[in-house]
Amino acid sequence: MKIGVTALGSGSRGNSFVIHSTEGSLLVDAGFSRRELLKRMSGVNIEPKEIKALLITHEHTDHVAGMRLFCRDYDISACMSGGTADYLRRRKTLAEKVVEFVGGTSFDAAGFRVTPFQVQHDAVDPVGFVMTRGGFKIGLATDLGTIDLLAQTRLADSDVLILESNYDLDMLRNSDRMLHLKRRILGRNGHLDNQAALDAFDQLISPRTKVIYLVHVSSECNDYNLVRKNAAAKLCAMGRSDISLEVIEQSEPQETAWF
Ligand SMILES: [Zn+2]
Ligand SMILES: [Zn+2]
Repeated sequence: MKIGVTALGSGSRGNSFVIHSTEGSLLVDAGFSRRELLKRMSGVNIEPKEIKALLITHEHTDHVAGMRLFCRDYDISACMSGGTADYLRRRKTLAEKVVEFVGGTSFDAAGFRVTPFQVQHDAVDPVGFVMTRGGFKIGLATDLGTIDLLAQTRLADSDVLILESNYDLDMLRNSDRMLHLKRRILGRNGHLDNQAALDAFDQLISPRTKVIYLVHVSSECNDYNLVRKNAAAKLCAMGRSDISLEVIEQSEPQETAWF
């Protein structure tokens, strides 16, 4: 049984991942325009027709920009929490076919068992996802101000962990961003900083962990090399240099990793 993970790109200007199985694939977030999604998929040899459902983490534009048109063109459902669906419906930007879920309730899509769980973020009803198939587990949380006990429990012991590493604390503090924006990012419902992500490795990593994707890296208040260097040092200190580390960039997609 083969499972694949493709990061089409991640950051404040768009987030999208493809999780592949032999029964079809899941698109997780559609934060690029339909055109950009198709371009990125074609760049890494993904046939858009293989996408059987779209999972949405929350309503922010960097996660839903291409949702409506992509779902329409490929006739798939967008699966999201009730609160997210209500918000997008009011804004008249909801996809035609919608599957609403409640955090904590599992459902099946594209050959995966999907379990959404609520996360702390400044959106109406944001979630992360656990996707399992045949004992293989992928845990994903792209936007969260803090890893609370629920997120910790859900994300722990994943074969593939996809986790936010948004900003470097000093770079954010020293940036010329407006004070209210800094407060928002730093808050419990904001974004996860590099150190918080690394600290979480202690609770989240287990003997089965094979790959960690660090995502939603800020272009202004972070540095890909810094994230890579510190995470590698952390894994080395934990005696887990066997775990592959991927720092996902905004500008281009990454080749599919197969398991
Ligand atoms: Zn967000
Ligand atoms: Zn985001």
